[in-house]
Amino acid sequence: MPEFLSRRNVLTQLGVAGAWAALGALSSDAQAQTAAPSSGPIADLLAAAYKDGEYTLPPLPYGYDALEPNIDQETMKLHHDKHHAGYVKGLNAALKDLTALYSAGGEINSAQATGLEEDLSFNLGGHILHTVFWGAMGPNAGGDPSGAIADAITKDFGSVETFRAQFTKVAAGVKGSGWALLAFEPLGTRLMIFQLKQHDLQLAAGVIPLLPLDVWEHAYYLKYHNVRAEYVKAWWNTVNWPAISAAYTAAQA
Ligand code: FE
Repeated sequence: MPEFLSRRNVLTQLGVAGAWAALGALSSDAQAQTAAPSSGPIADLLAAAYKDGEYTLPPLPYGYDALEPNIDQETMKLHHDKHHAGYVKGLNAALKDLTALYSAGGEINSAQATGLEEDLSFNLGGHILHTVFWGAMGPNAGGDPSGAIADAITKDFGSVETFRAQFTKVAAGVKGSGWALLAFEPLGTRLMIFQLKQHDLQLAAGVIPLLPLDVWEHAYYLKYHNVRAEYVKAWWNTVNWPAISAAYTAAQA
């Protein structure tokens, strides 16, 4: 792969390098260290999201039915095996086509390249957000955060209650398809809540996703139909705070 299309450069252009680098999932050094210590399920999933020159669909770290009754088995299966898999496929295809375009030499058809780069951004965003999404959930989870992430939430949002209410409001306010996201911003070393359109727009460069909430209809429509608020309320019961705290601690390293 040409240097200008190395994985790190592509991710940097899309403003998500920090997610990988801080979690130790992207660097070649980390990949060489097969026995590298785990920073929790989110890091493990990210480490399994790229292998042997291709982006890959990491397996769920729990069964399809593990989040019942909050998120139903059929939704989890379709969401992971079809939707997330589709983003991985689209990402590899866009990258392959771009690599061919760049390697061909001569003047690049800008319309063609722009379309592919949009595909790249959309699918890479989808891949990373879904990967972190699976790792930030788990069975027998929910409740209040504790440890480092709880302290940080209190510092940056005033209280856990305020954070939870605001995050819920942001998720409810997504127009159409998108995400609510709790992320770590490494320059200011603080947590921030973002509202994302689709998978990538309005995501500040360099932030490290810690807790994404998918509010695309494919994430909840089978069980909750058009009542997104009920899905979001149930989703809080799946939030794996120890996993998020581990990712937060790794992000600060
Ligand atoms: Fe999704």
